[in-house]
Amino acid sequence: MEQLAFLAVHAHPDDEASSTGGLYRLLADQGVRTVLVTCTNGECGDGPDGSKPDASHHDGDAVAKTRAVELDNAVKILGINRLVRLGYRDSGMKGWPQNDDPDSFWATPVDVAAAKLAETLMQERPQVIMTYNEHGFYGHPDHIQAHRITLAALEMIDYEPTLYFNAIPDSVMVTWRARWEQEDRERAEADAAKGIVREPEPENHDEEEFEMGTPDDQVSAAIDVSAVTGAKFDALAAHISQMGDSFWMKMGRERFKETMSMEWFVRVTNPMHVEGQVNDIFAGYR
Ligand SMILES: [Zn+2]
Repeated sequence: MEQLAFLAVHAHPDDEASSTGGLYRLLADQGVRTVLVTCTNGECGDGPDGSKPDASHHDGDAVAKTRAVELDNAVKILGINRLVRLGYRDSGMKGWPQNDDPDSFWATPVDVAAAKLAETLMQERPQVIMTYNEHGFYGHPDHIQAHRITLAALEMIDYEPTLYFNAIPDSVMVTWRARWEQEDRERAEADAAKGIVREPEPENHDEEEFEMGTPDDQVSAAIDVSAVTGAKFDALAAHISQMGDSFWMKMGRERFKETMSMEWFVRVTNPMHVEGQVNDIFAGYR
């Protein structure tokens, strides 16, 4: 039988673990060849002291160096066969000055980055590809750009793979939101007890409105990753410089294993004419 291969196009070091960590480990355990394309070096991540990129002492190149090592560790944990770094600079969040850096991913013409990705696609010929939807799942410019170059690269290659976008079903989003709101309340209460008063976050009315959740009936692949949630947690933990106070780390390994047992995707291209919701991302190929 033809060697099965999976390739995901991710924006930053750590995205491979958060949205596809379970899938990667599962596929590796099944003998599927796995390839990761990481578009940026993650210069806009947190500094070692938790500093944000607008802090005067934040050193993007040093952050990228740390994150490169963390990514190598996560790749090992997830059993990823090949890591391709496109090497663009992190563009930061929408409206940040880093958006305009000519070396940023966002400022790079789509066809230029897409041609690099197409080269890897032609070498590997993965049957299944994953990236984010047109909103970059949550609006980050580098995630939007990852979406754009993936679609453009698919026009440059000589075969049609099955493309999936990652997704969170609305029903799950509801419980996550409740959890985040609970955490915000607890933080505000703890601050109040210490006499700290925080300004409410300013509302940005320019923000494009979109839903992060996907209606449950549009989720076309629901993958049970419960057998590998330990590895997924460890891969996230490998990105400790960014994950230190993420809600995943706060959950702890045991709760994480109980809670994070699924990963979801929406099918975008369907050359194998698969119907309905599947539990195997290679449905139609095996
Ligand atoms: Zn990211």
